[in-house]
Amino acid sequence: MYTFTRQSALIAALVTTALSLGACKRHEPAPAPEPQAQPQAAVSAEAKTAASQITADFLRSQITTLSGDDFEGRGPATAGDTKTRDYIVDQMKQLGLEAGGPDGGWQQTFDVVGVDAQMPKQWSFSKDGKKASFKWWDQYIAGSGVQADKGAIKDAEVVFVGYGIQAPEYGWDDFKGQDLKGKVLLMLNNDPDWDPALFAGDTRLYYGRWVYKYESAARQGAAGAIIIHTTPSAGYPFQVVQTSWSGEQVELPAESEPRLQAKAWLTEDAARELVNLSGKDLDQLREAAKSKDFTPVPLGVKTSLSFKNKINRSTTANVYGVLKGSDPQLSNEYVIYSAHHDHLGVGAPDVNGDKIYNGAMDNASGVAMVLDIAKAYKALPTPPRRSVMFLFVAAEEQGLLGSKYFAEHPTMQPGVIAANINFDSGNIWGRTKDVTYVGKGKSSLDAVLDAVAATQDRVVKADQFPDRGSFYRSDQFNFAKIGVPALYFGGGTDYIGQPEGWGREQREHYEATSYHQPSDEINDSWNFDGMIEDTQLGFWVGLNVANADAMPTWVAGDEFEGARQKALAAVGTKE
Ligand SMILES: [Zn+2]
Repeated sequence: MYTFTRQSALIAALVTTALSLGACKRHEPAPAPEPQAQPQAAVSAEAKTAASQITADFLRSQITTLSGDDFEGRGPATAGDTKTRDYIVDQMKQLGLEAGGPDGGWQQTFDVVGVDAQMPKQWSFSKDGKKASFKWWDQYIAGSGVQADKGAIKDAEVVFVGYGIQAPEYGWDDFKGQDLKGKVLLMLNNDPDWDPALFAGDTRLYYGRWVYKYESAARQGAAGAIIIHTTPSAGYPFQVVQTSWSGEQVELPAESEPRLQAKAWLTEDAARELVNLSGKDLDQLREAAKSKDFTPVPLGVKTSLSFKNKINRSTTANVYGVLKGSDPQLSNEYVIYSAHHDHLGVGAPDVNGDKIYNGAMDNASGVAMVLDIAKAYKALPTPPRRSVMFLFVAAEEQGLLGSKYFAEHPTMQPGVIAANINFDSGNIWGRTKDVTYVGKGKSSLDAVLDAVAATQDRVVKADQFPDRGSFYRSDQFNFAKIGVPALYFGGGTDYIGQPEGWGREQREHYEATSYHQPSDEINDSWNFDGMIEDTQLGFWVGLNVANADAMPTWVAGDEFEGARQKALAAVGTKE
């Protein structure tokens, strides 16, 4: 599970909002089938029999091994990482899968680059001899946009660009074709949230995340970007920005993508002072930014910033195996199951002196679930029509890097990937009447999941914290970005035989005592009944997708529909 810091997870957990997805456009399944038409079989007898491979014994034994002290917390580019990957490869060979790589390899190796930027104590802005200076840490925070020994912005003009969003599906373009090359773009956080018809109301879309904003500014050729921090628009206080943006930032190696020199944040008060320097008013600019007709506002303010970086390169790998599909045509298409295999490695000791961050729940459990799903697939009398890939991605905890690398260097064209189903941190507290699903309301996978969950007498609930942008903070997001309909199981919340709120209590207790701590270890209190059901659910949902006539589709107008159309066009398929 990836969050900036443990604090941010806890704080975000407190920022509850009412479920807003009821207002969203829900995908309606195709028109009612004709009387003789085959009903969309949710779970066949064969699929049920195969699912008996999914057992507490198997899950427990995999988790116990992977979270053992000898795997040293599975930190990327460590001996524990190598051991983990070799172990997973060995398990897949034993299950009788084929290697996932086009070259017959089981691992997709890639570099990760650590960048530790040394920012100056003060950052100054000036106009007509007047000057405003902001203190690093207290008022401004910045990371390097470049993977080089030095980064610099030289005498660049600051331009206020509203939200910094270009979203054709909402008729929204904050840049209006203005030349922003070499400028420093000052931007609001989040996406427009006052209108349910715009950017899904108060649900935070990708457009509302800082990652998007820096990418968007880089596409304009800007030298730098500054996001104005407010606690409501970020979902966390400035302290989270300070702690998560200081120290080494780990990324994939730079390729041909446009890059900023610096990615910065300013406190709201500092941003106000900066805007005042130009004789303008921040509140008025914010108001203007709410209109589709907004155009960028050059502030006439100039700034420079130069800094040194410490660079640290290392190597890790995704691990993958494949079960070839049985249909001559459809076997060229894939359902991809994913779970991250990495965790935090060895770090600061806890009160008991334990330094190994075992990551039993996060995410030895997800790896075990996907391996058990592979076992169930192998138990089918005939493989499904489409091929199935079992993908164990690396370096998730450092910012979803393994899934990003795979999505940017897939071993098949994105247009032949039918769906991604991701598992991170399984349920260890027992059976639930529900299952939560991050990504609900976005694709035709909803209907498949609803039908399969109904066979377990479970109801499907949407992400309980839509304003947190959880969809964009786990591995399946990188698949969505290349157009692949994706879902991420969040487990249930409503535990059978337990009072209301009990599940939330367990989760909050785990977050406070074990999340990203050495004590995330397996013990006798773990109840596998819920994890078994979630694993079965994942198996059957993927099996339905793998056997269906057509691939899943995004809901019309979804933020990822454009990427899917492009991906399908590239392989000559029309949606
Ligand atoms: Zn995690």
